[in-house]
Amino acid sequence: MKIGNIEIQIKKGDITEEKVDAIVNAANNSLLGGGGVDGAIHRKGGPRILEQCIKHRGCPTGEARITTAGDLPCRYVIHTVGPIYGNNNGMDEILLFNAYFNSLKLAQEYGIKTISFPSISIGAYSYPIHDAVKIVYNAIKEFSKTNEIIEEINLVLYSDENHQIYRDFFDKLPQN
Ligand code: ADP
Repeated sequence: MKIGNIEIQIKKGDITEEKVDAIVNAANNSLLGGGGVDGAIHRKGGPRILEQCIKHRGCPTGEARITTAGDLPCRYVIHTVGPIYGNNNGMDEILLFNAYFNSLKLAQEYGIKTISFPSISIGAYSYPIHDAVKIVYNAIKEFSKTNEIIEEINLVLYSDENHQIYRDFFDKLPQN
């Protein structure tokens, strides 16, 4: 499926195994590692990722920072921080949008052509996935209007259930 000039793939799997230019990490404000996908990325990518994260001195919610991918099979890790659902005075939606949009902007600055995202904020941060998937779509669509670099975005879901929810949403979109 395409959104604008970007090829979109919905996949089920482990994002740490993606052989792409960059994977996105659903990090926390400290950028010092955590549970879920963040834990998996640091565990498999090794200490070089954390060394570079420390130098960034944290990341505000909705922004993104880039590091090496260490031992992972991709080239870079883009760390972004999604909102903790319900904690942001009505700003959850814009913050989640920003996390996706700013990750894509940073990827573009680094000449990244292929990128894989996990489902940011829908784990420990409790964002309802049916709402989140619409924001994922809106952020990619908005970004694609000015995109000249990114060719492929993979949306990687860890569970069958979440994978199916994404598939159902994207299958129902009108073809452009
Ligand atoms: P957040 O704190 O932003 O909610 P989590 O890591 O808790 O982030 O969860 C985000 C999503 O990532 C969850 O749906 C979780 O199942 C998924 N996830 C966990 N590990 C992996 C992995 N290795 N690859 C892809 N997705 C993963």
